[in-house]
Amino acid sequence: MTDAVLSREGLATAKRIVVKVGSSSISGANAAQIGPLVDALAAAHARGAEVILVSSGAIATGMPFLQLDARPTDLATQQAAAAVGQNILIYRYQESLRRYSIVAGQVLLTAGDMETPSHRSNAQRAMERLLGLRILPIVNENDTVATHEIRFGDNDRLAALVAELVAADALVLLSDVDALYTRPPHEPGAVRIDHVGFDDDLLGVTFGDIGAAGVGTGGAGTKVAAAKHAAAAGTPVLLTSAAKVADALTGLPVGTWFDAAPRG
Ligand code: GLU
Repeated sequence: MTDAVLSREGLATAKRIVVKVGSSSISGANAAQIGPLVDALAAAHARGAEVILVSSGAIATGMPFLQLDARPTDLATQQAAAAVGQNILIYRYQESLRRYSIVAGQVLLTAGDMETPSHRSNAQRAMERLLGLRILPIVNENDTVATHEIRFGDNDRLAALVAELVAADALVLLSDVDALYTRPPHEPGAVRIDHVGFDDDLLGVTFGDIGAAGVGTGGAGTKVAAAKHAAAAGTPVLLTSAAKVADALTGLPVGTWFDAAPRG
């Protein structure tokens, strides 16, 4: 990790970056978004950055293979869909990465792994080796044994834990919304928040519900909680949309930037 506190522009030169993408951005009608996402990740990889992708979408990708039109509501079927969808998802990423001769490594983790010292150090060592070999690790929750992210967050929290595990220089949280707003963005009077100081408790911000229609489980609330966790652990966070990932990774002024707590 670099010593200087990173700014948003610094994303263009950051050494180690964790990028998290949610289910609805890369599955179903948006499966073709994997291509542009991979283009942006490959560009960062090509300039020498170490890139880790945390991707949800196993359940959503598995649904059509189980003839499911809607996200299953019971946990066991969600886990079954994830088991079916995870390898399809990784296959799609690898096919896209192949255009750049980049090899992906699948890493399935649980929050519990991060708290169990032997699991944590194993995961850390494996991740360091993958990055040293210039592999692009693609992380998801290990849905067969853990269901936190299925229930509450579409991998937002997992991404923050991974950023902490690898001491990332920055975490980029991608969703369908381009930034954090003072209230749900479709509501009148919603104003984009450009920057959040590390000690800003965002008391004036109203978080909406994700709604029942989505295939993911995260909303602005879980993103802000994840961003706050990463920032407190020393990793600044950019929250923006998957459509703006290329701009984000080249340091353009998009999204909402969360300052990291000063190290010390
Ligand atoms: N690990 C799950 C997945 O990839 C989490 C996301 C979700 O809740 O849909 O599908």
